[in-house]
Amino acid sequence: MAEKHYKGRVAAPGLALGPLFHLPDLAVAADRPAGTPEAEMARLTAAIAAAREQLALLLAEGEEMAAEILGFQLEMLDDPALVETAAALVAEGAPAVRAWQEGLAPQVEVFAGDDDPYFRARAADLLDLRDRVMAALAGGGGPAMAPPAGAIVTARDLSPSRFLGLDWAVLGGAALGAGSAASHVAMLARARGIPLVTALGPIEPVAATAVLDARDGFLVVGPKPATERRYRGRLAVDREEARAAAKVVAEPARTASGRPISVMVNVDDPDAVPDDLLRAGDGVGLLRTEFLFIGRAERPDEETQYRAYARLLQRLGGRPLILRTLDIGGDKPLPDLDIPAETNPFLGLRGLRLCLDRPELFRPQVRAALRAAADGPLSIMLPMVSRAAEVLEARSFIEAEARALDLAVPPVGIMVETPAAALALDTMPVDFASIGSNDLTQYVMAASRDAGGRVAELIDPLDPAVLRLIRMVVEMAAAKGLPLSLCGDMASDRAGIEALVAIGIERVSVAPAALGRVKLWIAGCAGRAHGLP
Ligand code: PEP
Ligand code: MG
Repeated sequence: MAEKHYKGRVAAPGLALGPLFHLPDLAVAADRPAGTPEAEMARLTAAIAAAREQLALLLAEGEEMAAEILGFQLEMLDDPALVETAAALVAEGAPAVRAWQEGLAPQVEVFAGDDDPYFRARAADLLDLRDRVMAALAGGGGPAMAPPAGAIVTARDLSPSRFLGLDWAVLGGAALGAGSAASHVAMLARARGIPLVTALGPIEPVAATAVLDARDGFLVVGPKPATERRYRGRLAVDREEARAAAKVVAEPARTASGRPISVMVNVDDPDAVPDDLLRAGDGVGLLRTEFLFIGRAERPDEETQYRAYARLLQRLGGRPLILRTLDIGGDKPLPDLDIPAETNPFLGLRGLRLCLDRPELFRPQVRAALRAAADGPLSIMLPMVSRAAEVLEARSFIEAEARALDLAVPPVGIMVETPAAALALDTMPVDFASIGSNDLTQYVMAASRDAGGRVAELIDPLDPAVLRLIRMVVEMAAAKGLPLSLCGDMASDRAGIEALVAIGIERVSVAPAALGRVKLWIAGCAGRAHGLP
């Protein structure tokens, strides 16, 4: 067969080469003619029992992020009302599959249309549960559906529970026709270091070897011998690099000329980062606190947040923690927050703007952060800032809460994510700043970070426009003596970190899985280069 290329978006970086294994859409795969009502009911009951067993197993193995998603589904399965309609349809002669699908549809609709945002958000979980039972009806989860070792799993999309049901210890990676880099599955894949490319478009389910290039965002099906050789070479280099990176992961980072670079880690979910990796860096340069809010059954109260922040500080053993206040909106929606519909949510009520607008959301987080800061070196970082007045307003809010709690105010900084904040950094009343190159790139290039196709090509932090602005920020911070880091994804990328070191950055914060490699790449940098960009 001819080599076929699909272009998508990298959701979790890495490389894999192996047999393609297509997971069919369950709704299509599971359809078959009806047997007797008794036989169909027996199939349905067995499938529900199998689904319950699978969920309980996943729950027992999983970490906290997965537990939230799976616990709700188990609760639903134990509700007899869930199967009532399906059972009635089976009694009328419908096949188990159709009965289950149609029986659940009204309930999904009820959830989707509920006034309570929490229940509205549960519609997706119910669909996930529907698919798991459908997979059991189709014989899924058994050996027939298990991809072979090293396989590159393809599917139109994957639900979190279907993703968690695959044995990633032996699989190569996943290539999805749809999906987004901001999805739960993408977060799970990044946390586990599983290469994942999304938004590839319809993938032909052929039996072939494939290359998953989750660096440049390609799936290459039926690679020519020369392509396969090239990727095998890259994989070998990758493995060698991984071995070398493991050796330096806990060492301080220095350029070839001896310039020290502080390398911290970005934490999306503390439970997904093992202790040794957490302590191998120079602290946490970005705690994305959305993990406590997105996909959770309940809004976390002050105490829940305090415990989470204090626990992370304790695990860090004295290393600093930069806590970013809630950055909801844009690519990180929180369905149960009633944000009026916006034509362009990336330019709307997101990040700090939303928190200042909703003190009932901001206050518990600020109080929890202030209390945790009394236990260890915690700083507060504000996302999505455009002007100094917003920072002043947030600072007054934080200071008032600190007075009420009789606690000290920790250092308060901002993310430099908007061209406005970058251009006017010297006017910002802050103790430190960190460049969010992911958002800064989208706003400088006027190209949405979750776009595909032609627009996705513009999301390039190495574009001279972005690099020039970063250089300007680095120079402005240096002139002011303002501590500055960069915590966007470009610091976890080889070309990105090389450019940053050349510009003169002294601190970065990177994906935990990339920590060792980033230190290696820094060691390969000559020091301060010239003429960039
Ligand atoms: C960024 O924008 O670069 C960043 C680090 O924040 P996030 O990716 O969470 O928006
Ligand atoms: Mg951002």
